[in-house]
Amino acid sequence: MGIADVDELQEDVYRLRGKSRGSHSYVIRGTRGNMLIDSGLDSNYSDLKTSLHNIGMKVRDIDVVVNTHEHFDHIGANRYFQEHAVIAAHRFAATKMAFDDRYVTLYKSGDANDITMHVHLWLENMSRIDLGNFALDMIHTPGHTSGSICVYEPDKKFMFTGDTLFAGGLLPVIAESGSIGDYINSLKSLQTRQIREIYPGHGEVSLEPERDIAHAIENAFKLLRGEGNAEITFRRDVEDDKTP
Ligand SMILES: [Zn+2]
Repeated sequence: MGIADVDELQEDVYRLRGKSRGSHSYVIRGTRGNMLIDSGLDSNYSDLKTSLHNIGMKVRDIDVVVNTHEHFDHIGANRYFQEHAVIAAHRFAATKMAFDDRYVTLYKSGDANDITMHVHLWLENMSRIDLGNFALDMIHTPGHTSGSICVYEPDKKFMFTGDTLFAGGLLPVIAESGSIGDYINSLKSLQTRQIREIYPGHGEVSLEPERDIAHAIENAFKLLRGEGNAEITFRRDVEDDKTP
């Protein structure tokens, strides 16, 4: 609780830390609208609300919510925003959310709520959302899941990577709708861009994206060769110890 849960990453860009297994949420304060990237776990919503208050914002000040992918720990609190804000997700994530595909979104019966999730805006690769002072490009990066995107600011060169890329290049789980081949291809496409900082869905910010992407590709090839082990994989339980 409190201001310690909020980090100002740069002017008008904030990380609101996710508790337990919930994803972080990020806020971009635009001159022409405010964006929330990932709403996090439903059960973390009251903390999210507090964190928003700490940066002088109300839930209703969020104009658009972008989900980096369809997993429950990134979309869980969408229902508190979807009546006033535009909910946006890649088309392949939107299908799982809109048709309540709980097999792929990983909702277990205990997390389930009865509110139907609505996705207003089904994103395509390279759709842009222009907030005035920030332009955000939605880059389709399937691999962790089929509907995974990275959100890139081409001017200031920072990128929100969801569960696609973590600090150190540790691998995400390749989930039910995902593919290691897609993952490697997506990361190779990220290598063609200039990226200064990455803001992942879990764990820490990284200032060395180039190194992280190279590591992640290397680790993905290891996984293909059956050499996967805990050292190349992002372990959320370890992360939980660091950020209680
Ligand atoms: Zn995920």
